Amino acid sequence: MRYCRFQTEAGAHYGEVVDRDGEPWIQCVVAPWPEDPWARPAAGSFEPIPLQGANLLAPVVPSKIVCIGRNYREHAAELGNEVPKEPLLFLKAPSAVIAPGDAIRIPALSKRVDFEGELAIVIGKRATRIAANEDVRSYIRGYTIVNDVTARDLQKSDGQWSRAKGFDTFCPMGPLVTDEIDPDAGLTVTTRLNGAVKQQGTTQDLIFSIATLLRHVSAAMTLVPGDVVPTGTPAGVGPMKSGDVVEVSVEGIGTLRNPVDV
Ligand code: ZN
Repeated sequence: MRYCRFQTEAGAHYGEVVDRDGEPWIQCVVAPWPEDPWARPAAGSFEPIPLQGANLLAPVVPSKIVCIGRNYREHAAELGNEVPKEPLLFLKAPSAVIAPGDAIRIPALSKRVDFEGELAIVIGKRATRIAANEDVRSYIRGYTIVNDVTARDLQKSDGQWSRAKGFDTFCPMGPLVTDEIDPDAGLTVTTRLNGAVKQQGTTQDLIFSIATLLRHVSAAMTLVPGDVVPTGTPAGVGPMKSGDVVEVSVEGIGTLRNPVDV
């Protein structure tokens, strides 16, 4: 299924997304996920609306966002880093999450704020120490898109990444979650800045696969439904400035579009 989360006058809802003449529409309201304390089921009837016209929210309410650094060879090289021997984890603050269309705010504390377009895993079932012989797919609810916005100068000067990756608005997420795609088969990840392609990679080039990542993360910390694991960014990261529009597209999911402001 493909689903989104959206706001109406009655509150936050989840909606099933279907294609109508090639365009995504919210077809009906579906039951909220238990991890989301704010969402409510449908009240009365619901007229289908185009996804584009909906007041979209981030599709997930994560308890944590466990990111993977340097998971594409060419991206590790462009920042002068070695390819890691095992997945490199860092946490992004859930308070940084914003919806499709919300503005990324450039903080006065940073002189260089970069986009990082990424495919992200959404957890569907509590996962602790996933065994080597276990199929990780039973723990995956689906996939979405994350822009892992990063204050590159502070990432360097701080020496660790919590502040650089954790500013408010630094985690645009959406527009929807789908379980109808297979990253192992290769999905194109594209980031455009003001319409110009800046990043283009395929998930076939991930150094550590989806299965390896989930085993590695769950060996350390329990993943719970709604948690998000962005899988790393391809080469081509670069800075954004006020007035820009950044779009991250993942084949089979759609496009996450956000303006940039101060
Ligand atoms: Zn990243």
